[in-house]
Amino acid sequence: MTERIYDYDSHAMTFSAHVLSCTPKEDAFDIVLDRSAFFPGGGGQDADTGTLDGTPLLEVFEADEIIHHISPQPFEPGHMVEGQLDQETRLGNMQQHSGEHVLCAVLHNRYGVDNVGFHMGSKEMTLDVNGVFGAEELYAAEEEANRVVRADLPFTISYPTAAELKTLEYRSKKELTGTVRIVTIEETDRCACCAPHVMHTGEIGLIKILRFERYKGGTRVYFLCGLKALAMMRMYQEQVYGIDTLLSAVPEDTLAAVEKALAQTNALKEQRVAAERRLIQVLADQAPTGSDPLVLFEDFSDEIMARTYVNLLTARRDGPVCLFIPRNEEKTVFRYILAIRDGSVRPLCKEMNTALSGRGGGSDAMAQGTANATENEIRAFFTK
Ligand SMILES: [Zn+2]
Repeated sequence: MTERIYDYDSHAMTFSAHVLSCTPKEDAFDIVLDRSAFFPGGGGQDADTGTLDGTPLLEVFEADEIIHHISPQPFEPGHMVEGQLDQETRLGNMQQHSGEHVLCAVLHNRYGVDNVGFHMGSKEMTLDVNGVFGAEELYAAEEEANRVVRADLPFTISYPTAAELKTLEYRSKKELTGTVRIVTIEETDRCACCAPHVMHTGEIGLIKILRFERYKGGTRVYFLCGLKALAMMRMYQEQVYGIDTLLSAVPEDTLAAVEKALAQTNALKEQRVAAERRLIQVLADQAPTGSDPLVLFEDFSDEIMARTYVNLLTARRDGPVCLFIPRNEEKTVFRYILAIRDGSVRPLCKEMNTALSGRGGGSDAMAQGTANATENEIRAFFTK
């Protein structure tokens, strides 16, 4: 078994060790050391990254209690090597994972629920517990978890004997066999876990629940700890103050201000629809009757309005109605609706698609599509 330096010193970011073996593996070398500070991954936490004598490791993993360091360079057995961990990643991971232990312990001690799923994502962590909770209960747990952080309680790692384990109460996601590694937070928690942890709860800094939802009969809690939680709060803050500047609001009233702005927008949309309905009726009444194609360029708030307008026009004239609605700012692409009361717009549609790089089609009574042409080009097609 490789001696795990992080069991007694999780802050050892550099270490020296003897090379026990160096085995060629595919295009690289599998290095086994007598001791290592590299965490090989597990319990929801990624393996550490870093270097051996300055050479970046490709992978670190564990098999049969031995930590394997995959290196592009060989190292001679018997020689000493210097290991260097990617410090920021490791400290960040410990802040997140140790914070999860504290939050789980509080939820367990307070409400008797168990952690049935844990995921450390790059943006946030999720914790699944087998109990249904509302905001009040979760925020109470969050406050208590942060009290545990402030108390700066020590984390310790131990490997109890089988006999000791029988009498020991500890949290575990599954039935364990063989050597069990116990992570203890003084006065707070005992949990089976293989990962490196902070030395004291104070290092976690902050435990912040971001949101929660019902999940598989229980609750999924999204949360972050330490510097990542701080960065997330800063992002929220920038968003809220950004909205407040736009809406002349204060943070306490941001939601109400957004609701008010949305209500105003919806009211304006309704007014526009009502005004358009009156307008298309007036325009349709004034449109020329007859059998020449009636070519119109208009913009409408929605598709239904455009088709209603076309229907009003076709009802009162013999010739085809050709409506063009701009599709881009430059007005070089138009959506078209061609319609006729009696007869067919199919031949016109085909001819227009060819002349105006268009595509689309439909029935005898109505065809729809797009034309890649300017208003002038479209008008020229109809006056030729
Ligand atoms: Zn753990």
